[in-house]
Amino acid sequence: MGNSITQEKDVLRKRFNDILKGKGTDIPPVGTVTTSPVLELMDIIGAERPEADRVPEKMAQLTSSLHSVSKFEIIRFPFDVTVLAEALGCGIDPGTKARTPAVVSHPFKDRFKEQADMLDVHEELLDKGRIPVVLRTCEILRENKELNAPIVAGIEGPADLAASICGIKPFLKWTIKKPELVTAIVNRCVDACILYANACLDHGADAVVIADATSSPDMMGPDAFRKLMKNEYSRLADSIQGNCISHICGRTDNIIPDLLDCGFNALSIEENVGDLRHIIAQAHEENIAVIGNISTSDTLINKSAAEVKSEARKCLESGIDILAPGCGIAPETPLRNLLAMAEARDEYIS
Ligand SMILES: [Zn+2]
Repeated sequence: MGNSITQEKDVLRKRFNDILKGKGTDIPPVGTVTTSPVLELMDIIGAERPEADRVPEKMAQLTSSLHSVSKFEIIRFPFDVTVLAEALGCGIDPGTKARTPAVVSHPFKDRFKEQADMLDVHEELLDKGRIPVVLRTCEILRENKELNAPIVAGIEGPADLAASICGIKPFLKWTIKKPELVTAIVNRCVDACILYANACLDHGADAVVIADATSSPDMMGPDAFRKLMKNEYSRLADSIQGNCISHICGRTDNIIPDLLDCGFNALSIEENVGDLRHIIAQAHEENIAVIGNISTSDTLINKSAAEVKSEARKCLESGIDILAPGCGIAPETPLRNLLAMAEARDEYIS
């Protein structure tokens, strides 16, 4: 028994690492790198938010249930994208069982010279807010001998972090009117992401995912991404000492070539991309994996398990490397539909 558990753990972690090293895989794993606990899982496992957002044992318990109950082979935590923002001084609404934590106050105005201190990133950042909770959760999951799935720590990306600190409207306005201010802020946000990402890896995460909705062409536009984000994205990926995945929401097709230049091991994309097969072909030319892209806002939450399976099958037939939700899963998503993902994969390979 002990041996077979060790073997399964080795198999799932090796498969994940092989994919992220660009070696491909015999069996595409099913899992998630986007925010994920659902209400049914919280009830089954006895770990609920908001406690599970703030207590490492509960966060670890709920994360593990993504494997033990939902049959995911790659699991992600924490379950929101406000941890770094909170550590850098944003006010947070902790949410409820069905509502994820959200940023409610943005400490940064537009006087960078006076306010730069707030964004000076030092090691002490790792002691702030819920960062110690996430780092402890990495350790608990890594030490759990019965957990057979690789673990992915989710981190808000530099544009999301900047938008949280400045407010989304001012930030997007400044990408046009004050690009030098945006450059300075994003640079500090990348420093924060690097420090936190490397700490997660040091504490046992198999990979980090940098989730950055604000970098989407739907938000800032592709030209602003190239001008203001791309170099900093490269610095981010280069400075992270381990497996590093990018997740950007929306129709990302026209920044995929830029993202492929940046040095990530994999791109997580959502269902609104225009041409999945073309994205996969471009990525595979660079030995970069593609993760996705079952619709979370429609299929997983609203449709039947049979429809989830049919969409999953399309992803697999397109050559997706890891079958996963395209974005964060809504808390009301039926567990049945998460289970349908592993079933679809099993049917596909049999
Ligand atoms: Zn997304």
